[in-house]
Amino acid sequence: MPENQFGGQQYLLLPEGSSRILGRDAQKTNIAVGMAVANAVKTTLGPKGLDKMMVSDLGDIVITNDGATILEEMNVEHPIGKIMVDIAKTQDKEVGDGTTTVVVLAGELLKGAGDLLEQGVHPTTIVRGYKMAASKAVDIVGQHSREVKAADEAILQKIAMVALGSKNIGDDATKLQIAKLVIRGIKQIIAQDASGNMVIDTDFIKVEKKAGGSIADTQLINGVLVDKEITHPSMPKSIHNAKIALLDVPLEIEKTETDAKIEITSPDQMQAFLNQEEQMLKGMVEKIKKSGANVVFAQKGIDDVAQHYLAKQGIIAVRRVKKSDLEKLARATGARVVTSLEDLGPEDLGFAGMVEERKISGEQMVFVEKCKDPKSVTLFLRAGSQQVVDEAERAIADVIGALSSVIKDGKCVTGGGSIEIDVANGLRNYSSEVGSREQLAIQKFADALEIIPKTLAESAGMDPIETLVQLRNKHRSKGGTAYGVDIFKGSIGDLTKSGVIEPSKVKVQAINSASEATEIILRIDDMISSRSRSRGPGAGMPGGMGGMGEE
Ligand code: ADP
Ligand code: MG
Repeated sequence: MPENQFGGQQYLLLPEGSSRILGRDAQKTNIAVGMAVANAVKTTLGPKGLDKMMVSDLGDIVITNDGATILEEMNVEHPIGKIMVDIAKTQDKEVGDGTTTVVVLAGELLKGAGDLLEQGVHPTTIVRGYKMAASKAVDIVGQHSREVKAADEAILQKIAMVALGSKNIGDDATKLQIAKLVIRGIKQIIAQDASGNMVIDTDFIKVEKKAGGSIADTQLINGVLVDKEITHPSMPKSIHNAKIALLDVPLEIEKTETDAKIEITSPDQMQAFLNQEEQMLKGMVEKIKKSGANVVFAQKGIDDVAQHYLAKQGIIAVRRVKKSDLEKLARATGARVVTSLEDLGPEDLGFAGMVEERKISGEQMVFVEKCKDPKSVTLFLRAGSQQVVDEAERAIADVIGALSSVIKDGKCVTGGGSIEIDVANGLRNYSSEVGSREQLAIQKFADALEIIPKTLAESAGMDPIETLVQLRNKHRSKGGTAYGVDIFKGSIGDLTKSGVIEPSKVKVQAINSASEATEIILRIDDMISSRSRSRGPGAGMPGGMGGMGEE
């Protein structure tokens, strides 16, 4: 622990066992931690990137290529590490794809900042330069963007294939099949808000997964797959042209919270009491029957007696359905969630061409399908093993994110490092217009972006430096700006031809978040940890903010 300007006085301010790192030491440590996190995911970038296998405390295994997942599973403890993990999560939430890219980019920005700090450039100058560079970079991405419409099926397919590219879930034909399903699903749920703007709420593409079968058995259900069983064995197993009631009311006699005592003195009274309960439940079922419903999804419980009467009426009932599933069912079938049985009428019911319970890998699931123009659909993922369905689920999340952001935003760019080269070249030109010291930071920003083509080249077994030089030159010559790393050919090439297309928004979000995270980290020059060192060796600082995942 270096002495600070207050001499030993910090020990009066801070509790015993706490630790502190100041100034350059803090910056150096933080940059090193950020870079370590970036290095941990770098090798997974791109379709030839490798997977990571992570084993949790409990021995659970996750095999993945997904940046956000890797970082989450790593349980990074260092606060700076956590910032890096957060940007991957934000990227995941905002655009669904590009989680590895954002972290790798942030790592390079930190590295560049470290070099500048060594040269004596002040952190606030670097921060200002990075801010200028990020905003210029976003402009340049915009200039190189192409328009995409929801109707451009071929382009959407390419974008989906690139988003699926690095995930190890099957051959190209399988991936294309999944890509098509996701495109169909997203198009199905596109809605409009009150002012006529396009809304894509990706919550309404439900992803259900079950290990078993093969990935080619994956299907898109025009409706909702509910992972529950029909409550009573003598209810029908399937109903055509279902009229569906969604209930947020218990079909039970609710036991009161207060202690009420009922004194029963004779068996007759007991019988009368039970009869009355039964009559009430029967009355509830009659109200449902009267509405015309033949399928009931209830968020709450359904009493055995009520189940019996429902079954007698030939009504299918499913109980304890998640609230989120009820909302999805409402959007898919057009039903309204009813909170009182008194209100239930024919106008509240929804429609599905088919409601059926099917046994999938030994478990019953209820399929609500063939809905009319449903604004909620389900992608039902199948694959031979749990690991593959899990990775497929993450891959699908990337595709859903990429497609919905490109449809909303309407812009795409070529990937494979080509856009990064364009932006880097543009930033270098821009830096020469900036007279002040910030130009050094802008140049570092340009260098940092080139980590993407460099890493992709490396993963394809190409010489990274050689590739970079060739690409820079290509991009300076006319008509060469779509040149990038053609990973499968192992050479540089025009990536519009190979169809390596990505949403502009994925790049813009990555540039903004990586630069913001770097700026936050650079502004820190005092790290105080009140965590006790007594948690074992390395639990305090500086090593102790360790706990870093890269063990
Ligand atoms: P991320 O989590 O950042 O999306 P990926 O592992 O999906 O990471 O890799 C994305 C990078 O790989 C992007 O830069 C993208 O342009 C590039 N890429 C994807 N497919 C190809 C391809 N067929 N050829 C070249 N580059 C590709
Ligand atoms: Mg990706």
